[in-house]
Amino acid sequence: MASLPDVPYVYQFRLIIIGDSTVGKSSLLRQFTEGKYLEFSDPTVGVDFHAKIVKVDGDSPVKLQLWDTAGQERFRAITRSYYRNAVGGLLVYDITNKQSFENLTSWLSDASQSAEPHKLVFILVGHKADQDKNREVTKQEAMAFAADHDMNYIETSAKAMINIDQAFVLLAENIYNKVQTGAIKIQDGWDGVKRGTTKRGHRNNGVYEGGPRFIPSAGQKKGCCD
Ligand code: GDP
Ligand code: MG
Repeated sequence: MASLPDVPYVYQFRLIIIGDSTVGKSSLLRQFTEGKYLEFSDPTVGVDFHAKIVKVDGDSPVKLQLWDTAGQERFRAITRSYYRNAVGGLLVYDITNKQSFENLTSWLSDASQSAEPHKLVFILVGHKADQDKNREVTKQEAMAFAADHDMNYIETSAKAMINIDQAFVLLAENIYNKVQTGAIKIQDGWDGVKRGTTKRGHRNNGVYEGGPRFIPSAGQKKGCCD
């Protein structure tokens, strides 16, 4: 696991990455967190987790905790707690493998059922975008699937470093917006979203550090200053 510099962040989101074996999930994560690509990527063993801070909504740092499925995807034996303790994730298929696209529906229904009562926020990721000449799934098909499931769609390549950060920032912003509007609520005993290390409304030399702004309640104002 990569260690993180001690920088403040507003929220922590726990994210999962699902899709058929060999679509490139571990490679996508490795490129994002370590800036490395391996031509021969070993199948993931055990539970693998990575972390990285990204900036969303202009300048708000958010820590992403990223859980990779560990070879179980072949057997669909991914545990319920894996889904239940995530706020969302990447739904990944390989653009050169039609079957991996066709399997998305069942990945999504497994995930949604297991996550209940929480609703997971996914983005659709068409991976191995460097292999356009071997494409088996058109962008139009993928966009239609994404629209049907109310998701954003992006094509990535770990090999050619296409849209790596963009994919994770897109997902993080989708979630961040839902947290800001209250559509996703932080709850004790749930690891999907946690408050970060910055204090609420904390100001540092007049520079706002992020986090929900502190608005004094009517009760606090009463009898205060006039
Ligand atoms: P996972 O089983 O979904 O975790 O897939 P892996 O990350 O282990 O990758 C499976 C295979 O696809 C490996 O041989 C990778 O080198 C290859 N691969 C991963 N990402 C890319 C990519 O962006 N482009 C191409 N052409 N191959 C990739
Ligand atoms: Mg893997």
